[in-house]
Amino acid sequence: MSEKLTFIPLGGVGEIGKNMYVFQYQNEIVVVDSGLKFPEDEMLGIDYVIPNISYLTENQDKIKAIVLTHGHEDHIGALPYVLKQLNVPVYGTRLTLGLLKVKLEEHKVKAKLYEFKGGDTLKLGKFRIGTFHVNHSIPDSVGLAIQTPAGTVLHTGDFKLDQTPIDNRVTDYYALTHYGRSGVLALLCDSTNAHRQGYTKSEREVGKTFDDIFHRAEGRIIVASFASNIHRVQQVFDNAVKHNRKVAVVGRSMVNYVNTATELGYLTYPESSFVQLEELNKLPAHKVVIVSTGSQGEPLSGLTRMASGSHPRVSIVPGDTVIFSSTPVPGNEKLVSRVIDGITKAGAKVIYQGVADVHVSGHASREELKLIINMVKPKYIVPFHGEYFHQAAFKQLAEMMGYDSEEVFCLENGDVVEFTDGVGKVAGTVTAGSVLVDGIGVGDVGNVVLRDRQNLAADGVLVAAATIDRQNRKLVAGPDLITRGFVYVKESEELMAEATAQVAKALEKVLADTADWGALRGAVRDTLSSIVYEKTRRRPVILPVLLEAKRNS
Ligand SMILES: [Zn+2]
Ligand SMILES: [Zn+2]
Repeated sequence: MSEKLTFIPLGGVGEIGKNMYVFQYQNEIVVVDSGLKFPEDEMLGIDYVIPNISYLTENQDKIKAIVLTHGHEDHIGALPYVLKQLNVPVYGTRLTLGLLKVKLEEHKVKAKLYEFKGGDTLKLGKFRIGTFHVNHSIPDSVGLAIQTPAGTVLHTGDFKLDQTPIDNRVTDYYALTHYGRSGVLALLCDSTNAHRQGYTKSEREVGKTFDDIFHRAEGRIIVASFASNIHRVQQVFDNAVKHNRKVAVVGRSMVNYVNTATELGYLTYPESSFVQLEELNKLPAHKVVIVSTGSQGEPLSGLTRMASGSHPRVSIVPGDTVIFSSTPVPGNEKLVSRVIDGITKAGAKVIYQGVADVHVSGHASREELKLIINMVKPKYIVPFHGEYFHQAAFKQLAEMMGYDSEEVFCLENGDVVEFTDGVGKVAGTVTAGSVLVDGIGVGDVGNVVLRDRQNLAADGVLVAAATIDRQNRKLVAGPDLITRGFVYVKESEELMAEATAQVAKALEKVLADTADWGALRGAVRDTLSSIVYEKTRRRPVILPVLLEAKRNS
């Protein structure tokens, strides 16, 4: 009998975000990660985007577990939504589960959580999953060797090869070469930095730069970073201790991450080096470090509010040194430069990547990718965690190393890859895509609602209200036009008067033939859109509101 292992990405290929990967052997499924993605600019009002999991809800009885590679939002952020639909156990390392618990409590979701350590092997049905430690921009990250009778697929997780990581735990090269020697069918590999030459620098390099900046700074130091980058925060604490300063923490998510990481032992510092925000002003400026959220210029974050003077406890003052210990995620550049403007206007000094080495990536660059391919020697390669451009850069790299074009799969979400008796091919697709989360609504905002929001944002709304006596086919009251975001009514009286008259005429014309609601609404919409477009070249959302006149009985 032929042996088949199926791989389906439900999210995370052709994009950076909402990672979710399905592995199926016979009638058993293991899912790796359940991440979210932050919305694009044109997705007005949307909070998050999560993967469409209809394939999993249809095959719920087959799912053995969800296994998590690390605690970043693009890998665990969709779990509160996913676990409301799927009652399956979740496996993760200590920090990953610690961060997940906070999230599940917020959403009041209960789940069966099982902890493992990098190096452990999980037995899930016919799957044997070897886990191995990898370096990344959050501690306790792992890669997975997914072993089945049909072969082994090695999933790198998000990773880099850091020879001098802050916790001294290097990527598990022994495991990688061990699996490589035993034979790997396919390598699923992080492709985020597949276009970047050389090696990604060690996290420790940032510490050296901090040391230098802390040495020179005379006033307060404010460091903005991703809250999840615990090792970055650790280096802020280490340098604060070294330079005799105390650390205060600003921003809700920074407080959450610092608390969880300290509790679980991933962040260590002498208690005396920590200071509550309320006590901060009692200390002289040269004794203070603030670590804050807002490295992406997020409007409500700690740093943005400090820069605009709207933070209740801390404002930026001349003499402050502000370090952006990150680079803007594509799309956030404008937000970040606006915050930098604000800080500079307030008289502080700003240091960002480019001025000094205050940030390193958590993802492997090209030389590291080559190294991992040479260690694992896979038959096939599937780049994930990348837009098409990153996948293509990875493919080009693999081809340079002697792989054939058919041996590297640049997939789209929903593609089904079958490895049958050691031969891989794309064999179809399943439903995949995006589910939009807005407030407490999951998936109720679709394309139609989004298009309305875009139209409303672009040209506003025009409401035409009228009361109709349908029995006698007469217009009893109105039409009245009400608008928001379309024109300023006081300056457009002429247009509004003309539009009102035309709508009345159109309604009377229809009423001569019929009292059908559809025909009446259609007449209002057509009349208004044509006169409005003719006079203004705008296309507001038009809402006819027609009421039945109350009859005396
Ligand atoms: Zn990550
Ligand atoms: Zn990621």
